[in-house]
Amino acid sequence: MTPPRNSTAARDVAYALHPYTDHKAHLEKGPVVISRGKGVRVWDDQGKEYIESVAGLWCAALGFDNERLVQAAANQMRRLPFYHGFTSKSHEPMVDLSEMLIERAPVPMSKVFFANSGSEANDSVIKMLWYMHNAIGKPQKKKIIGRLKGYHGITLAAASVTGLPNNHKLFDLPLPGFFHVSAPHHYHGAKSGESEEDFATRLAQELEDLILREGPETVAAFFAEPVMGAGGVIVPPATYYEKVQAVLKRHDVLFVADEVICGFWRTGNYWGSQTMGIEPDIITCAKALSSSYLPISAVMVNERVFQGIAEGSSSIGTWGHGFTYSGHPVPAAVAIETLKIYDETDIGAHVRRIGPHLQRSLRERFADHPLVGEVRGVGMVAAVELVADRKTRANFEPGRKIGPRLMKLGEDNGVILRGLPGDSIAFSPPLVITEDEVDEMLDRFGRALDELAVQLRRESLA
Ligand code: PMP
Repeated sequence: MTPPRNSTAARDVAYALHPYTDHKAHLEKGPVVISRGKGVRVWDDQGKEYIESVAGLWCAALGFDNERLVQAAANQMRRLPFYHGFTSKSHEPMVDLSEMLIERAPVPMSKVFFANSGSEANDSVIKMLWYMHNAIGKPQKKKIIGRLKGYHGITLAAASVTGLPNNHKLFDLPLPGFFHVSAPHHYHGAKSGESEEDFATRLAQELEDLILREGPETVAAFFAEPVMGAGGVIVPPATYYEKVQAVLKRHDVLFVADEVICGFWRTGNYWGSQTMGIEPDIITCAKALSSSYLPISAVMVNERVFQGIAEGSSSIGTWGHGFTYSGHPVPAAVAIETLKIYDETDIGAHVRRIGPHLQRSLRERFADHPLVGEVRGVGMVAAVELVADRKTRANFEPGRKIGPRLMKLGEDNGVILRGLPGDSIAFSPPLVITEDEVDEMLDRFGRALDELAVQLRRESLA
């Protein structure tokens, strides 16, 4: 149906260049215009209601109508709508939020730096690492190791740590000095008959081989999402991080935990690092930090990293890095309120109650579905991976666009789904979702999946 000429949809097609969008398809089909939200649901401009199975982009943790966050923003805007942190200026929201994050950190952390997005936080980490190593007289220790399927954002350095093909070759990336090791995904990555333990040992060895090949004196840091998100919701084998951290310690390579998705209870603990037994030197977070009501991200560094950065003022020149909006008081006030709500409502206990229900229901209802290869996840983050052949675990040809087709069928059935590379469908609903809402979300997903199965059988693809 062609939208009326002056509709939001028509003007979108006329004027908007979208993030992560197939523009050719968009020109033909137009947008889904979301116009309001309540709880775990959003409504489009035609009045159709959807359950948001990924909380927007894994981020609106408190759902779509939290009045306390609205008030926190309005109050702060009236008191001090803007101030910055350059040249030793400060303000209360920036200080309060820094203190709250340090108090909640999974390991002792020293200082907090603010940015506006996950990408900016990770880019800032890379610049901190480069500056710090220049400052302490180790200018050769600059290389960065990420993992295939890892996602750390799309600015130039963050995209270079990201390990997804579409973020690299299409954009002349990665930059020099960035390396990637295998994803800890046993389902696809293990050799025939290889146990999870042996797989983890092999991956830690791969990391050590890379560090030794490059020279440990040239490698600054290893980046990891505790549980990989956008690359497919990949939960590593139990001993993986223990083995990886032993390698990093041996060669004095810092661990950067990208908690942009995992932070703030998503995996069942405050931090994904706690769920996975990681003791990071640096942590980045964003998204649920403010329940995404306003953009804000943070980098926490330990004392050693802070001292390295501080050293630069006398050894090489003042730290010339920071955003106009680093620690902006309005998103900082919203983040403070968000963290208070997590504490006061004991959202952690809620996730520990509902998360297992989500995980169990996904497995009971979909693990044996003819289109499903693997169901995985922990806490309140999960994925259902579709395969063309359950025996060989082969995915559908990317050209078939199975993920996007399921997303469309999901929308028809009242659930907004997110397809990841390799036809995995992510689940990362608002943390406030109830058990009944989980069931309703999975009913709608189940109907979409069954409709896809019927279509594919008709096309002789399943
Ligand atoms: N790191 C992780 C783990 C992410 O999931 C994302 C975004 N999905 C980013 C970094 C980048 O964040 P942003 O889109 O806010 O730049």
